[in-house]
Amino acid sequence: MSELSVGIDVGGTYAKIGLVNEKGDVLRSEQIPTDPSKGPAHFVRRAAAIVQAWKFKSVGLGLAGGVDAKTGTLLFVPNLKGWTGFSFKKAFEKSLGVTVIVDNDANVAVWGGYVVALKKKPRTVVGVTLGTGVGGGLIIDGRLHRGATGSAGEIGHLTLELDGPRCHCGRRGCLEAYAGTAGIQRLAREFMRRPPSPLTPKALADAALAGDRGARRVWDTVGARLGQGLANVILLLNPDAVLLLGGVARAGGLVLDPARRVFAAQPFREPFEKVRVSAPADRDWGVVGAALLSRERRG
Ligand SMILES: [Zn+2]
Repeated sequence: MSELSVGIDVGGTYAKIGLVNEKGDVLRSEQIPTDPSKGPAHFVRRAAAIVQAWKFKSVGLGLAGGVDAKTGTLLFVPNLKGWTGFSFKKAFEKSLGVTVIVDNDANVAVWGGYVVALKKKPRTVVGVTLGTGVGGGLIIDGRLHRGATGSAGEIGHLTLELDGPRCHCGRRGCLEAYAGTAGIQRLAREFMRRPPSPLTPKALADAALAGDRGARRVWDTVGARLGQGLANVILLLNPDAVLLLGGVARAGGLVLDPARRVFAAQPFREPFEKVRVSAPADRDWGVVGAALLSRERRG
């Protein structure tokens, strides 16, 4: 039992809480509404009340937004207004009496994939979380790279087209504006005569696999844009591996094949020939990774 940790993945609507072993298996899990309007202290009390009945050595928390991992404080959070400046690390440590780490949700998810799917073997890894948004995390020399202010790895907001479609961040032509859920839906409305309803990535993948040419074009575009964004990062970091996580990664070859075509067309051959791209089966990487990352820090 001493080898267990708790992972908490806090989204704008729900938070997932899991009890995780050293292999990354989720042994117990709960989901609670985040209720952002009730404030962060209220959230900590509710989450702590759930895990208090469990036995564990450390807690990891993943939050969408900017996080100061040292103090466990939120710097900015687009979907949790009023939660900034609050130290989740302090609050959870006080109520639970164990080591608590706090990090960006994409960072923890990528760490989970790195430990579980890649077994920590490659040293330099570019991780991408594909979901409503496009997040990223960088593993450099076997360690999570946070950068000077904790925001390293924001691959979703690399600019691919200066006058491209509008992104949630307010700028234009970001990778997320093509490969995030809203971007994929926009492409579907543009390319398909009768887009599926509800317009989910899963329905679009099914349509493409069933031979719908418009849906295929959607995925060709998403994959090519993803490949373009990754190519920039691969040129910069020359990673051993690229790890694609999240719902959209489930589209598999529909996304990976066009991305690989972009790689094959690159003039600098070696980094693209060497890099191994994998899209492991989807799971709660945020919960798993937060728990596993907290193991790294505990004494
Ligand atoms: Zn953006």
